[in-house]
Amino acid sequence: MPEVTGALLELIRLTSTSLPPDVEAALQRAADQEEPGSAARTTLETILKNVSLARNFSTPICQDTGTPSFYVQHPAVWSPKSLRAQINAALDEATRLSYLRPNAVNSLTGKNSGGNTGDEYFPTIHFEENEDDALMVNLVLKGGGCENVGTQYKLPDARLDAGRDLEGVRKVVLDAVYQAQGRGCAPGVLGVAIGGDRGSGYLASKQVFLRKLGDTHPDPQLAELETRITREANTLGIGPMGFGGKTTVLGTKIRALYRLPASFFVTVSYMCWAFRRRRMVLKGDLIWYE
Ligand code: SF4
Repeated sequence: MPEVTGALLELIRLTSTSLPPDVEAALQRAADQEEPGSAARTTLETILKNVSLARNFSTPICQDTGTPSFYVQHPAVWSPKSLRAQINAALDEATRLSYLRPNAVNSLTGKNSGGNTGDEYFPTIHFEENEDDALMVNLVLKGGGCENVGTQYKLPDARLDAGRDLEGVRKVVLDAVYQAQGRGCAPGVLGVAIGGDRGSGYLASKQVFLRKLGDTHPDPQLAELETRITREANTLGIGPMGFGGKTTVLGTKIRALYRLPASFFVTVSYMCWAFRRRRMVLKGDLIWYE
């Protein structure tokens, strides 16, 4: 199995310091549609300036460099144990080079590990065997502020008059946006899982962040729901960082899961504007980043 620690380090650097083009373009569109001189527009322009500076100087886009979540698809002959060791080594080096802030804190002692490795849940790494001989690693860095406003509903929800159907899903997701009131650094992206259990719901609601902002869900019902939730969330007037305005969310991504007859969870993960998501592909002698 090849040594890929250096390639993984570059993936981490790129993810932490260079916002993906689709997210940056969405922030630019949002800035363009706000009133000149408004708090919303000024906030978005400041965000965009910061994004550009971070890229130019190879410094983190935000001081909270987030929880590193790796989604690894590897050839059958590659060892997940060895890949984990190389990911951890790359994280150590990325922290030493200040691409990442030391972010792993022992929950019992309050002591920072001094890096971005702690236990088998930190960083989170999801392994899947690939059909071909390519290695594909997706990395998402998700900040704590936006993680704090993620939430889970159990339908039916009498408070919101939300039943076990897509209309009920729409109501609770909009409630999550309303409750957040811009906390978690709006404008961001909603990741929604319908169904599953409490654990798989959160997992799937984050996995949808691997989708590009401009894509369309293959299920027309869910595609329509994604568009509708985004449109309606943007009529709430919360705006960038809660300063008011037309852009509260940049997009909504939904996944429907199987569930038990007794449960109907709707899980909402919120990704802040610092939506750091990158991909590395290694195939033969070739390596590229997206
Ligand atoms: S929520 Fe996002 S933008 Fe806000 S502080 Fe955390 S990482 Fe940074």
